[in-house]
Amino acid sequence: MTQHTVEKTSLSLLGLGAMGSALGRAWLAEGHGLTVWNRTADRARPLVAEGAKQADSAAEAVAANSLVVVCLLDDTSVEEALSGADLEGRDLVNLTTGTPAQARARAEWAHERGARYLDGGIMAVPPMIGVPQTGGYVFYSGSQELFHRHRETLAVPAGTRYVGRDAGFAALHDVALLSAMYGMFAGAAHAFALIRKEDIDPASLAPLLADWLAAMAPAVHGTAGQLRSGDYTRGVVSSLAMQVAGIPTFLSTAEEQGVSQELLSPYFALMRRRLAEGRGEEDLTGVIDLLVR
Ligand code: NDP
Repeated sequence: MTQHTVEKTSLSLLGLGAMGSALGRAWLAEGHGLTVWNRTADRARPLVAEGAKQADSAAEAVAANSLVVVCLLDDTSVEEALSGADLEGRDLVNLTTGTPAQARARAEWAHERGARYLDGGIMAVPPMIGVPQTGGYVFYSGSQELFHRHRETLAVPAGTRYVGRDAGFAALHDVALLSAMYGMFAGAAHAFALIRKEDIDPASLAPLLADWLAAMAPAVHGTAGQLRSGDYTRGVVSSLAMQVAGIPTFLSTAEEQGVSQELLSPYFALMRRRLAEGRGEEDLTGVIDLLVR
């Protein structure tokens, strides 16, 4: 080791599924000492071949390093895996997907056992891990001290975005973004269904769809501005009244094409409800207030 080489933080990783293995590989490739544990021990073999140490139990893995990263299937598996481990003084980073309430409860649980806790929501799929140019990142929330202490190590597999001390915020951001993604997929599914029986190549529609969705996406900034100001008529380009007047065109086109309206109808119903409240001068932001119970 030269005088200028900074020793890389060693860490323990519990969970070697598709995501855990990708994370582990990225840390090994950057020269971090890594102790791994997986319920099915055989799955550790590839990482051991790349230089990882294998622990015989989760408790042994937790004891091996103060930084402990967990990436298991769900919150129940985290509880099961860590039940026999001594977490006193550990920096526990939980990258297992869960709900905000689960993250908050898990943070309490970790604190009661003497650990610092950081929750993570991974905005990447395994092939994006360790490949910075893919733009993959992880939302983190919980202990800011833990985040700052291990930021460089956590940044090895993917980018880092700390979103607050509330341990539930990483999961909340994760689920918010993924929920928006499913809305986008739903819209794209309807669009493909409309052309399905026609002599239109889906491959010719795809780039048009991708460009259109990308062009419309920045509208969320306007929505945020209206939500902040409370004035939903601010900067309106296409009024709710005008958009509701267009609904029959969308529903009739679906019918003409023999396509179910079931993906579009719920959103249109909310638009109509908002219009019925006399909010025709707004755009679509008022739908959010109808959703929040
Ligand atoms: P996998 O299904 O590939 O792996 C699941 C892991 O959880 C395995 O290590 C499995 O062990 C372990 N496990 C399951 N139940 C238990 C249990 N009761 N006790 C101990 N270990 C258990 O999932 P991924 O690796 O893909 O995902 C891990 C986490 O990362 C999930 O929360 C997922 O939502 C999240 N994530 C995954 C993404 C992806 O694209 N894969 C993207 C973003 C987040 P065993 O090998 O013994 O079965």
